[in-house]
Amino acid sequence: MKSLDQLVRPNIKSLKPYSSARDEFSGEEAVFLDANENPYNQPYNRYPDPYQRKLKKRIAEIKHVSEDSIFLGNGSDEAIDLAFRAFCEPGLDNVVSIDPTYGMYQVAADINNIETRKVKLTSDFELDVDALLKAADDHTKLLFICSPNNPTGNSFKADDIVKLIEQFEGIVVLDEAYIDFVPEKSFLKKLPTYPNLIVLQTFSKAWGMAGIRLGMAFASQEIIRIFNHIKYPYNVNILTQEKAFDLLAAEEDKNKWVADLMEQKKLMTQQFDGYSFVEKIYPSDANYLLIKTTAPREIYNYLVEQGVIIRDRSTVALCEGCLRVTIGTQEENNSLYQALGKYEQECM
Ligand SMILES: *Cc1c(COP(=O)(O)O)cnc(C)c1O
Repeated sequence: MKSLDQLVRPNIKSLKPYSSARDEFSGEEAVFLDANENPYNQPYNRYPDPYQRKLKKRIAEIKHVSEDSIFLGNGSDEAIDLAFRAFCEPGLDNVVSIDPTYGMYQVAADINNIETRKVKLTSDFELDVDALLKAADDHTKLLFICSPNNPTGNSFKADDIVKLIEQFEGIVVLDEAYIDFVPEKSFLKKLPTYPNLIVLQTFSKAWGMAGIRLGMAFASQEIIRIFNHIKYPYNVNILTQEKAFDLLAAEEDKNKWVADLMEQKKLMTQQFDGYSFVEKIYPSDANYLLIKTTAPREIYNYLVEQGVIIRDRSTVALCEGCLRVTIGTQEENNSLYQALGKYEQECM
C-alpha cells in the first residue's frame, strides 16, 4: 500500500484542528468556567466528552480492541463521510466500490465531488477481485466493501477480502454493519495486520439502537487520529453517549434478538419457498432476505395497501425482480405472510 502520508489530503495533513475547552482541560471535580456553558440545567448544560472516553472503554472491552483504534460517530454514515474528507481531493481523486451495495458510499462521494468507479459483483454476488483492482489508478484512495453486503445479504469470501486489502494501494473500508449476525466473519481481529483497513460497525442493527445514532469505525491509531482532527468537536451528544453506555450492559438482549431473528429468517425462507411468485431466495448472513419474484413492483404496491412496507430493489444492478425484506418479529412476519397469501389468491 501507499503510506498514509501519501494518501491523506495535503490540507488535512497540515490542518490545525479546533481545540475545544474540553480538549485543553478534561479532568473532573473542578469548577468549570472555561466553555461559556450555563451553570444551571444540569446535566444537559455541559458539553459532552469530545472523545467519548467512558463509552470507548466499554466498547474496547466488548470488541477486544484498544480504545485508540476506535472512532465513534453520528451513525457509521459519519465515518463514511470522514473517510472522503480525509483522503479524497474533490474533483481529482476517485474511489472504487462494488455494485450493488449500500447507497451511502455513492452519495457521500457525490457530495464530496469524488468519482465512484463501480465494479459489478459476479452473477452469484461474489467479489470480482481482479476487476476491482484493475478499476483503481493512481488517484484511487478508497475501496468500499460491504460484508455481509446490503442488499444481497451474503458475506464475501475471506480470501477475496484479504487479497483486496493486501493488493489495493489505498485504504479499504470494510462495512460490517450486519456482522453481529455472523460475528465469526469479522475482520476486526485482523486490524493490527493491516494499516490500510478501516472496519465500520454500527449499533443500528443487531443492537437495536438506530434511533440514537451511534456508529463505529475501527482503524490504526494514525487513521483514528486524523478522524478526530476533522470531525465536529462534539459529534456524539450526551444523551447518545449515556444511553448507549447503559444499553451496552445488556449484551445478552442483543444476543437473544440475534438468535430470535435468525430463527425467524429460517421460517421466512420456508414460507417464501411456498409462494408461486417467488423465483429465488438468496442466502443471507444478515437480518433481511433478498427475494427474486415475478412481479416486484406489483407485490410491493399490494403490500403497501395492506400496510406492510418492504423494499423494492428491482431497479438495482443484478437485482432484477428482487424485493428486500427485513426480518421482523413473529407477529410482524405473520402480517406479511397473510398479506402475501391474499396477494397470491387475488392476483396470481
Ligand atoms: C444500516 C447500514 C449502516 C448503518 O448506518 P448507521 O449510520 O450506523 O445507522 C451502515 N452500512 C450499511 C451497509 C447498512 O446497511
